[in-house]
Amino acid sequence: MASDALEIPDASNIVTLDGTEAGCENDMIRCEASDNCSLPIDIILRSSSDPLTRFGTHKLNLQIYSSILSLAPPSNEPASPGITKDPSTTRSDVSSTTSDANSTLQTASFNPTDESKDVYLPEDPDVIQLLLKFMHHQPQPDLRLISSNLLLRFANAAEKYKVYCATGVCSVVLEFSVKEHPFDVFLYATNWGYTGLQEVAAKLAMKESPARFFAYAHSINHVAWRDLAEQETHKLPTKQVHDSFKEYCKDSGSWAEAFGAWFNKRESLRTALFTALNNPIPVQHKGGLSHCDEWHSFYPQLLGKMAVEPPCEESFLAILANLKPVLKNCDHCGIVLKAMGRSVRVATTEGVGKRALREFL
Ligand SMILES: [Zn+2]
Ligand SMILES: [Zn+2]
Repeated sequence: MASDALEIPDASNIVTLDGTEAGCENDMIRCEASDNCSLPIDIILRSSSDPLTRFGTHKLNLQIYSSILSLAPPSNEPASPGITKDPSTTRSDVSSTTSDANSTLQTASFNPTDESKDVYLPEDPDVIQLLLKFMHHQPQPDLRLISSNLLLRFANAAEKYKVYCATGVCSVVLEFSVKEHPFDVFLYATNWGYTGLQEVAAKLAMKESPARFFAYAHSINHVAWRDLAEQETHKLPTKQVHDSFKEYCKDSGSWAEAFGAWFNKRESLRTALFTALNNPIPVQHKGGLSHCDEWHSFYPQLLGKMAVEPPCEESFLAILANLKPVLKNCDHCGIVLKAMGRSVRVATTEGVGKRALREFL
C-alpha cells in the first residue's frame, strides 16, 4: 500500500455508542449517503462552514474512492473557488498538515461520542453529502438536476480530492452550464486542466464582460488570455476597466502596474487614432475648394467627440453615424471619411493595437 494510503483499523477496534456492532443501524449516527448502507461507520466528517451536521461514513470507502481525501491537499494544489483552509488549529482538519491528517484518520479505534476525532472539511455540507454519495457503490444522483452553484462547488471538491468517479461526469455536465457561469467554469477548467472547456468558457466570459475577464485572467496570471481580453477592452471606458481591476484583482498586488500598462497603451492608441484623424486625404470639391462649408462644421465636432471616447474604430463609427447629417450627403466628404475610416482601423487594430501589453509596462 502506498505511504499516503489510508490505514483501515481492525474491525475489532470499531466501537459504537451502545457497544454493539457499528453500522448504519446506529440510532445516533448513521450513513446518510445511501438508503440501505450496512457498512460499519468508523469515521465522522463535518463541514468547517456548518459543523452542526456529523456525516458518519467509512474509511474503506474514502480509501477506495479518493486517493487523497484522508490527507491534506499538497501545498502545490491549485486553490479552487470557495475552498479555504479552516483557521482552527485545535481540531482535526484535512486542510491542515499532512501529518495531522494522517494522525487523525489512522486512529486505531473509533468512538462516535468522541467528537474530537471528527474530521473537518472546508467544503459545505451539501458538497460533503454529494462526495459521500459518490463514494458508495450505488446509482449516483443526476447532476443535471442540481443547481449550477452546487455543481461547481462539488466539481471543484471532486477534483481536489481526486474522486475520479465524479470528476468526469462533473466536467461533462458543466459543459452544459458554461453559458450561465462562464467565469466560474473558466476558473474550474483552468485549475483542473480541462483545456477544451477552458477555451469555450474563456470566449463566453470575454464576450460577456471583456473588462472583468481581463482582470480575472490577470488575477490568475494567465498572460495569454489576459492579452486576448485586453484587445477587447479598448472599446470600453477607462473607468470600467479600472473598476474591474479593483474588484477582481483585490488580492493581486500587481494590478496597479498592469492597469498602468493598459492606460499607456490606451494613450498610444489615442495618439495613433488622432494621427489618422488629423490627416484627412485631400478631395477637391466643386469650385476647386478643399472642403465644403459643412466639413468645417463637422470636423471640429468629430475631433472633440473622439477626444473623450474610447480610442477605437467602434467609437469612430458611432460618432460618424451621429454626425453624418451635418455633411448633408456631400459625396466628396464621403470619400474623405471612407479613407479616414480605413486609417483609423489600421491605426487601432494593426499598429499599436497588436502590440503586447508587456511592451507598455
Ligand atoms: Zn455508507
Ligand atoms: Zn464636403
